[in-house]
Amino acid sequence: MKEIFAVRNFNTFFEMVSALPDDAACRQYLEQILWTNGTPTCPDCKSNEHYKLSSKGEFKGQYKCKECKKRYTVAIGTIFEGSHIGYKKWFVAIYLFQAHKKGISSLQLSRDLGLTQKTCWFMLHRIRKVMGVTDDEVQLDGTVQLDETFVGGKNKNRHWDKKVPQSQGRAHIDKTPVLGILQQAEKEVIERPHKVIPGKIVKETIYLKNAVVKCAVVPDTKGDTLKPIINKHVKDGSIIVSDEWQAYQGLNAKYDHRTIDHRAKQYVDQAGNTTNAVEGFWTWLKRSNMGVYHVLSRKHLQAYANENAFRYNNFRLKDKPRFDLTLQQSNTPRLTYKQLIGKK
Ligand SMILES: [Zn+2]
Repeated sequence: MKEIFAVRNFNTFFEMVSALPDDAACRQYLEQILWTNGTPTCPDCKSNEHYKLSSKGEFKGQYKCKECKKRYTVAIGTIFEGSHIGYKKWFVAIYLFQAHKKGISSLQLSRDLGLTQKTCWFMLHRIRKVMGVTDDEVQLDGTVQLDETFVGGKNKNRHWDKKVPQSQGRAHIDKTPVLGILQQAEKEVIERPHKVIPGKIVKETIYLKNAVVKCAVVPDTKGDTLKPIINKHVKDGSIIVSDEWQAYQGLNAKYDHRTIDHRAKQYVDQAGNTTNAVEGFWTWLKRSNMGVYHVLSRKHLQAYANENAFRYNNFRLKDKPRFDLTLQQSNTPRLTYKQLIGKK
């Protein structure tokens, strides 16, 4: 994570509302986060040479590039581009959405912000899309657990389903398979002198590697579908732990592949190999999120999975840095309303 030169500091939602009291303050904060040292940068030619446009333009943060003569604001290319909602309401939505363990529903947000539910539904989808965005950049390594689960359905069983024994890979009518890839945390407990009390020794847990989960919504759970995704996201030579599902056969060509025999009710083998963490993630998803969203369609499932992976992967961050991280990712290709509802 890039170190953020933040002009204003706050630690809670309450403090943010006073630290960033209006759209202009929020916009300046975003400029600090997205531009190096907050220096205006042309989105087209990347030049820092600019004119600041006066009066109304200045309030909106409009600049003109000295090189290519184009006008721009920090919103160009972000989820805020072309939005009439105003930065402050956006910031409130982003803060609440990433800070609340269960997210927030569009209905609740529309009451809180005084916007229509449709507008809020669209805002949340844009936020959700940028929350999960860093996932593709870094390959997982160390010890990596694999597992799939089945989600959704048109009938009343609209929840993350527990895998039915012996049924992996079979067609689950109107359920969508999701592959989970989880890098295990590596930590060690060290002993060090107490920071205040002389002579006292305390124990401290040091994280050498964070737990990181990635989810991929997949059409089926065959080897030809799963293996390219695993190869892309897991570094060669890593330890991979999975159950004995046949789709995972052949992974030992590139990885140290260890299998757990779930049919024999084995969950941790004698060497300590387990898929408990990734299975725990599925359970966590069920409890943390699915109560908030009443409708979960296959079309939006990847975005929901990414949203939850983001919360899981950054749970040790405090709300403010996680908020900053979300803003930092806000300049990824934005989602238009037509894309979202599937119209061209
Ligand atoms: Zn330019």
